[in-house]
Amino acid sequence: MARTAIVIGSGIGGLSAAIALSKVGVKVEVYERTSELKEVGAGIMLYPNAITALRKLDVYDAVARAGSFGHHGKYLTWDGKVLVELNFETVGLAGESIGIHRADLQDALADHFGRDRIHLGKSLVGFEQNGRIQAKFADGSTAAADFLIGADGLHSAVRQQLVNDGEPRFSNCFAWRGIAHGEFVDLPQESGFIAFGKGLQFGGMAVGNNKYYWFGAVADKRGARGRTTKMDVLDLFGKWAAPMPQLVEATPDDEILTHDLKDRDPISTWGKGAMTLLGDAAHPMVPFMGQGGCQALEDSIALGAAMKEAPNVEAGLRKYESMRKARTAEFVKQSRKAQSSSMTSSPIICGLRDFILPKLPVNLLFQTFHTLNSYEQPDL
Ligand SMILES: Cc1cc2nc3c(=O)[nH]c(=O)nc-3n(C[C@H](O)[C@H](O)[C@H](O)COP(=O)(O)OP(=O)(O)OC[C@H]3O[C@@H](n4cnc5c(N)ncnc54)[C@H](O)[C@@H]3O)c2cc1C
Repeated sequence: MARTAIVIGSGIGGLSAAIALSKVGVKVEVYERTSELKEVGAGIMLYPNAITALRKLDVYDAVARAGSFGHHGKYLTWDGKVLVELNFETVGLAGESIGIHRADLQDALADHFGRDRIHLGKSLVGFEQNGRIQAKFADGSTAAADFLIGADGLHSAVRQQLVNDGEPRFSNCFAWRGIAHGEFVDLPQESGFIAFGKGLQFGGMAVGNNKYYWFGAVADKRGARGRTTKMDVLDLFGKWAAPMPQLVEATPDDEILTHDLKDRDPISTWGKGAMTLLGDAAHPMVPFMGQGGCQALEDSIALGAAMKEAPNVEAGLRKYESMRKARTAEFVKQSRKAQSSSMTSSPIICGLRDFILPKLPVNLLFQTFHTLNSYEQPDL
């Protein structure tokens, strides 16, 4: 008889895990807290490791149709001087990278999995194990299956019951994000940029259909503190070089997202018995390498492959965890390093950065990106 699984959360992690498990013959139902399947109005960069995973999930075509391929990028100073110009392939990012609106990625995953098996308005409040596993929801309903995947994000209720390690760690940075509509001559299709100031950075990239994703990150120990409007963003980035203020201007005020950036220290226990964690629930990281979602996709492939070969559920889940812990812990660490080097407020270090970056061989500069491609993902 086919194994059955409950996946908690319909983000990138939950939906990709649901597809991977279905591909290896598991009968999956997804339970999502929100009453509507609606991703935040922001973009996401999918690096070659994520593209490999999407191909294995058979979702590549839909993502490639909706998004925008990224082939080149620039590092700039806040006033527009080019520090580094790079072609993704020459820095070890051989393979495709795609910038996409998060809602388009979610649609592609949800359509492929099957929306009739995504149960909305189901907020998990706890689970019980007794041979099988039973999930309990805030509306009083329950669901049972052979195993459960906690893909419920940064504030995971599944993780809380498993390890109870409290609130995530605030990184002393916050970020604004938005999607601008229009034409920006300084930001052609197939390219992106990141510009650096003192304790500030701003990035932008095309995400398909004449839409452009931008983010502004701010080092501030106090967090965003209600600074959520376009005027707040322009207060810090309004005098930066084109197209940065223009991207902010071209974003509706009520569509600007504000988030304090958080992560957690890696943990050694991801699961117990017939349950495990996946994506941000297992290994949230600060977004300075753009790998949180990509790692969730890698997790889903490892999970599917481990369950395909496993003699029993527990063996499969522990195998999956052993395949993923070290790699994701490394990205948590490297993402913190990327934050400290790119978000420094020290005028001396910023000056040194702007002086040294153009002189470094690009290959050396993107050493950590090479690890993205040196990881073999199993077949499903
Ligand atoms: C500013 C910023 C920029 C980023 N840029 C990138 C990037 O370019 N590339 C990249 O790869 N990553 C990026 N990331 C990281 C990426 O967004 C996350 O790692 C990714 O979304 C994690 O997916 P997930 O499915 O694990 O969690 P989530 O996307 O958080 O999904 C969790 C889901 O679970 C649901 N849920 C929560 N609690 C419950 C409950 N109790 N019961 C039922 N459902 C529940 C939620 O509603 C949600 O739908 C960025 C993050 C930030 C903050």
